[in-house]
Amino acid sequence: MDLFLSGHVCNRKTLIITNPIKAIYMLLILLCFLPLQIFINNEWHDSVSGKKFEVFNPANEEKICEVEEGDKADVDKAVKAARKAFELGSPWRTMDASERGRLLNKLADLVERDRLILATMEAIDGGKLFSTAYLMDLGACIKTLHYCAGWADKIHGRTVPMDGNFFTFTRHEPIGVCGQIIPWNFPLVMFIWKIAPALCCGNTVVVKPAEQTPLTALYMGSLIKEAGFPPGVVNIVPGFGPTAGAAISHHMDVDKVAFTGSTEVGKLIKEAAGKSNLKRVTLELGGKSPNIIFADADLDTAVEFAHIGLFYHQGQCCIAGSRIFVEEPIYDEFVRRSIERAKKYTLGNPLLPGVQQGPQIDKEQFQKILELIESGKKEGAKLECGGGPWGDKGYFIQPTVFSNVTDDMRIAKEEIFGPVQQIMKFKTIDEVIKRANNTTYGLAAAVFTKDIDKALTFAAALQAGTVWVNCYSAMSAQCPFGGFKMSGNGREMGEYGLHEYTEVKTVTIKIPQKNS
Ligand code: NAD
Ligand code: MN
Repeated sequence: MDLFLSGHVCNRKTLIITNPIKAIYMLLILLCFLPLQIFINNEWHDSVSGKKFEVFNPANEEKICEVEEGDKADVDKAVKAARKAFELGSPWRTMDASERGRLLNKLADLVERDRLILATMEAIDGGKLFSTAYLMDLGACIKTLHYCAGWADKIHGRTVPMDGNFFTFTRHEPIGVCGQIIPWNFPLVMFIWKIAPALCCGNTVVVKPAEQTPLTALYMGSLIKEAGFPPGVVNIVPGFGPTAGAAISHHMDVDKVAFTGSTEVGKLIKEAAGKSNLKRVTLELGGKSPNIIFADADLDTAVEFAHIGLFYHQGQCCIAGSRIFVEEPIYDEFVRRSIERAKKYTLGNPLLPGVQQGPQIDKEQFQKILELIESGKKEGAKLECGGGPWGDKGYFIQPTVFSNVTDDMRIAKEEIFGPVQQIMKFKTIDEVIKRANNTTYGLAAAVFTKDIDKALTFAAALQAGTVWVNCYSAMSAQCPFGGFKMSGNGREMGEYGLHEYTEVKTVTIKIPQKNS
């Protein structure tokens, strides 16, 4: 079956390109050249504090390298550089819009040139399957850069038929210095999702990668310089959330923060914006997305998409379909096939060909997932397969399926962010709409049915930023993405996403009148 993700059509049989020896060799060469420092003004800097932090490979728990640890003083330096690059008359502000597009296209070409290196790093640093990183993540990054490059010279204002004798038009101007704080589950995709729309609209940025996965962001620093972006347009400060991250969200000279991560930290970011300069805030947070399967659906398709929609990248996706509601007549068969599917996995080193599931990102996530699995067992869900760690090294968790899950259980309410599937039963349409929406989240939802009336009813009734019908996880740069309720504020990508990186200015000019 084809799986549509990130604009890629990818057959599972083709997901084998890795040559692990070559990949590891390349990474070793690369680490000798990769600057493990802070990127400000197109130059590499040590941290002001002199501190560094360790970066680990989650597949074997071994240290990969140490990176300079950015904190408030480094964020200040980066914001100053970004502010200077944003000044009127600077090379960036006087650059033709089409030239901004050309630079983004150039960056896309450099990412494509170094695709193998970036995918290898993503696998070693974040435990992502090499094949997934190479095909899906890097594919999405390249397409997103081209997509935003195309927008750079197509951001138009309007003329407005204002009352009175005036000529009124709007200018869609860049907001200014944008702080961008990203998570570890899609390190490179999130980096590109943040910088590409911001840059095509003419902003400057300070990016803080997640402390677990800073390597591809740092590599991007060298590509940004090579592409020819003026100094200070993109600055990258690796470091921790409560220090470097908080310095960005509290900063008086940062005009906007874009954040992807937990709802808990999303609240802190909004609070910080409120307590400082009321900077603009967009948030892409967690989810507990419902996936509703009707008895009339094509069962093979529904089982496969429900499976991939949850187990993709070890379950570490904000859109994971982690509440699966199955109509009563097909419930037992759906559970049986889902278990069969989950048991087919090969776990192991994400660089090796044939491996289908890698490790969770770190010990904290690993323990949180195991604790939630225990709660599921205690609260009376039926553990159908998996249910514990795997192997003796690395943060691996067996693919786990729970049936007989009820809405009050913690595994049905909390974001697990791991390879743990919850399958519930429903009887009527009204009942399942209510249950699907009975959550503080609202990121994504899906419905599987051959009945167009049901599909349209759910497309309207589900409170979620994205609703899929007869598919799951289908995304591409043209589509706005974001959440209802506590899954976030604002949208990323698509034309809607660009609005979040511009301020609208109304310019009104008095037209002289003949008789006045
Ligand atoms: P997190 O929200 O703590 O981290 C995300 C980013 O925010 C990182 O760059 C981190 O350094 C930064 N950050 C942390 N505290 C901050 C602060 N006080 N101010 C500014 N920035 C701060 O997420 P986590 O601790 O890595 O994971 C916890 C849970 O969050 C996961 O179990 C999962 O449920 C959820 N999560 C969601 C996503 C997503 O894609 N929406 C991604 C990662 C994690
Ligand atoms: Mn955290």
